[in-house]
Amino acid sequence: MRVPRCREPDLLELPVSSLKGVGPRLGPRLGKLGVERVADLLSLLPQRYEDRTCLKPLGALAAGEKALVEGGVDVAEVVFRRRRSLLVRICDSTGSVTLRFFHFSPGQRERLSRGVRLRCFGEVRAGAVGLEMVHPEYAVVGPDTGPPETTLTPVYPATEGLNQPRIRRLVRQALDAHARAPLPDYLDACLPEGWPRLDEAIVSLHEPPPGAAFAELAAGRHPWQRRLALEELVAHRLSLRRAALDLGSAERAPCVVDSSGRLDAFRGALPFRLTGAQERALDEILRDLAGDKPMNRLLQGDVGTGKTVVAAAAALAASGAGFQTAVMAPTELLAEQHAATFRKWLEPLGVAVAALSGSMSAAARAGALARIARDGTAVAVGTHALFQESVRFERLGLVIVDEQHRFGVQQRLELKRKGERDGRVPHQLVMTATPIPRTLAMTAYADLDCSIIAELPAGRRPVATAVMQERRRPELVERVGAHCRAGRQAYWVCPLIEESELVDSRAAIELERALTAALPGVRVGLVHGRMKGADKDAVMRAFASGALGLLVATTVIEVGVDVPNATLMVVENAERMGLAQLHQLRGRVGRGDEASTCVLLYKPPLTDVARARLELMRSTSDGFVIAEKDLELRGPGEVLGTRQTGLMQLRIADLVRDADLLPLAVRVSEELLERYPERVVPLIRRWVRSGREYASV
Ligand code: ADP
Ligand code: MG
Repeated sequence: MRVPRCREPDLLELPVSSLKGVGPRLGPRLGKLGVERVADLLSLLPQRYEDRTCLKPLGALAAGEKALVEGGVDVAEVVFRRRRSLLVRICDSTGSVTLRFFHFSPGQRERLSRGVRLRCFGEVRAGAVGLEMVHPEYAVVGPDTGPPETTLTPVYPATEGLNQPRIRRLVRQALDAHARAPLPDYLDACLPEGWPRLDEAIVSLHEPPPGAAFAELAAGRHPWQRRLALEELVAHRLSLRRAALDLGSAERAPCVVDSSGRLDAFRGALPFRLTGAQERALDEILRDLAGDKPMNRLLQGDVGTGKTVVAAAAALAASGAGFQTAVMAPTELLAEQHAATFRKWLEPLGVAVAALSGSMSAAARAGALARIARDGTAVAVGTHALFQESVRFERLGLVIVDEQHRFGVQQRLELKRKGERDGRVPHQLVMTATPIPRTLAMTAYADLDCSIIAELPAGRRPVATAVMQERRRPELVERVGAHCRAGRQAYWVCPLIEESELVDSRAAIELERALTAALPGVRVGLVHGRMKGADKDAVMRAFASGALGLLVATTVIEVGVDVPNATLMVVENAERMGLAQLHQLRGRVGRGDEASTCVLLYKPPLTDVARARLELMRSTSDGFVIAEKDLELRGPGEVLGTRQTGLMQLRIADLVRDADLLPLAVRVSEELLERYPERVVPLIRRWVRSGREYASV
């Protein structure tokens, strides 16, 4: 029997603890840097580089640069000015520089005496008496001193207890293993002319030759860096695509074909005509529904573009084909509003609409549950309560999730399972008003097909946005009063104090009191997150019917609420809110034919970022522009919501900096799926942490 040998390529696959010098203490520290296996060291890229490849003449030094220098000690003395320090001046034939040490040992002081030759590396700065280097790295030049480095010196991300020389030694071991048995280059056949090969990129990034383009490296835009970033993006996209393809190929959905002709009646009964964009989206949805593959479609449309009516038409089609639809909203308020809207549109056509909310009475809930279980064509509207154990659908054919960014990928998959029946899963339509930056759509949402409603209904006017300082509040209160007395309505959105509904709700109550007192003759209502669903509903209904003129609200009204006569909005503490949230809030006005205004109230002083954000809100109402900016300012984790951050833990690529790589990443990943399917799993495993277990099956 042969003893199995550890083949070379396997070393890179082994846990990093199999390297020399990595013990139980170092292992976890490397883990913090995302290094678990030896191969991970290869993608642990330097944060920056230092040029220690040539000795700089002392006379050529300039403040601000980092340099490698050599010179003989000319003067060494301890001085006591503000702080005790050791000053050592070294000279060469071109000039001199002073080394300054605040901490030094007696031995050190002795060694750094006149006549000794030193080689130093450090940052040059302008001191009191000429150029100096504070605490440079240095070594005494002796017979063993070699020439300067032959490559740029990498500086790796540091973590406590893991210094640069140590990381370099570990990376060296990984590079040696790679030299003996290189990582396979999975992209080589798919990349356009001129892209570096994987091997070149890896080796060069750890040991760049002296002539390497320093500025490009520093900016993360060097072709070597881009080669790895591209590969990482491809891997992430593939992990989602593969999940979708796997599911898609195995799963079947009911074919939903509506032959009842009620869609025309539905269109005819609407008080408006669907826009071209709405018709196109509906068309795409109906086509998906008619197939036996589960629809997995994202309906994107900025606030106010009219996604709800498209969803209702889809539900009507499902009902016409004998299937139920579940409509899920992120908040009770929104669920109630959707229920009302769906009732208004669908019940006249004979489709029962059942609402299910967490705050219903037991009897009402039981009634709704019975109806959902019995009536195979009903539409059920609710919050995630819809997907609790006790809810049984008779024949669920379509699941619609509104404002999908509040729900994660995981929940999306759970919903699907919940609706499974006789081996068929329901179709799924997710709607979002948060325009998803193109870059995220291509990566984090790669498992969804996308319909976009990029057109507002005719007659809408963009909301005029003003940015106003807190001290002009009295003037603003007067303006709101005049607005409401003229028969129009307004929102006043309360300060966002902290992530606490309790605190925010209290602030809302106080504000409502103050505004009621300041505005006699205006009926003021209040909704906040701690009110009971029924109470909130009553206030909202009163506001929607026009009985209330001014609605004071916390950010609970952020999503979906629709009152066209409300044409003025004040947002307090706007400087603290995220761009996407402000955009959502602002979308509550400008929903009718009247011109609308949004006033962003802020408390100075503003940080530069806050100022830039408010200015952006003032100057554009384009949700996509805002979303791109939001991504840039807050990063993909925030924009996607915490639930999805795990999916997008990129180590090298940066969705903002590398956005231009995405079209190529899409092309390459499709080509891999088609021509080199056997490379897909190893590639995912190389880059996607959460994909490791998944991909190892
Ligand atoms: P959102 O896409 O933000 O969810 P809604 O579906 O709430 O938008 O629609 C906003 C408002 O526009 C609603 O009052 C809706 O009835 C109305 N609406 C939808 N489609 C049209 C249209 N084609 N023409 C005019 N008004 C429309
Ligand atoms: Mg909506």
